[in-house]
Amino acid sequence: MKTIALALWMIGTAGASQAATDDPLTKPMAVERAKEWLKPLPPEKVFGTSYLVGFGGLSVALIDTGAGLVLIDGALPQAAPAILANVRALGFDPKDIKYILSTEPHYDHGGGLAALARDTGATVVASARGAEGLRAGAMAADDPQLAYGGTWPGVERLRVVTDGEVLKLGRIAITAQATPGHTMGSMSWSWSACEGAICKAVVFASSLNPVTADGYRYTSAAGAPFVAGFEASQRRMDALPCDILISAHPDNAGEGRYSDKPGACRAYADRARGLLAKRLAGEKAGTVK
Ligand SMILES: [Zn+2]
Repeated sequence: MKTIALALWMIGTAGASQAATDDPLTKPMAVERAKEWLKPLPPEKVFGTSYLVGFGGLSVALIDTGAGLVLIDGALPQAAPAILANVRALGFDPKDIKYILSTEPHYDHGGGLAALARDTGATVVASARGAEGLRAGAMAADDPQLAYGGTWPGVERLRVVTDGEVLKLGRIAITAQATPGHTMGSMSWSWSACEGAICKAVVFASSLNPVTADGYRYTSAAGAPFVAGFEASQRRMDALPCDILISAHPDNAGEGRYSDKPGACRAYADRARGLLAKRLAGEKAGTVK
């Protein structure tokens, strides 16, 4: 079974890279960084019917609900064919993907959503602020990274969910966990993955790191809601039931593609807390660019 999946994966990824060339929705972005972000990996089961179908530096999750599939995040535009090849390598039909959940309106997690939605017929699901950015394919006017500029393929079919809303499909119920800060539209997603009688709480966490373009200040009036957002999101991560943490960038959760260490979400929050404290101290000391 593993051998077949790996063979299918190798055929799938080879075919996908050829087909992508003149498709406007999979046009490559950030080619240099993509070498690390899109490091190919075979699909992998996390627990129960939850899988990873993404890359070495960007997470993409797949959940088989028994009544359709759910994908979380879409990586870069050029990543879409490889994601779908990974879905197929696990024996699933991409056309069964009903929803694609988004963690944030940035090109590295949302760039591939337009192609994935087109190729699968799925509806993209995001927070109101997330949906705004994904529809436009651009960063929001208040985004701390706005000065970097850049656009990516916009998503047409979107469903907006609010904090705490539960998305039910088949045997799976996924809860939207608002985790603002990195962007004001950032959303994490939590669900229970079961194998027989054993169930584990899984969290797919949005990025919680303070990243800005040069000149931006969290200590300014414009930055204050972001700081408050980060603090609320860190508390949210502390409190969430969390047996398995998948983070949007896997290296932010430690070694490997996900963490099943006890307290993984609290450790993720602590890391974010440390980075924010360091950043705010730097702004106060005048050592931040
Ligand atoms: Zn981001």
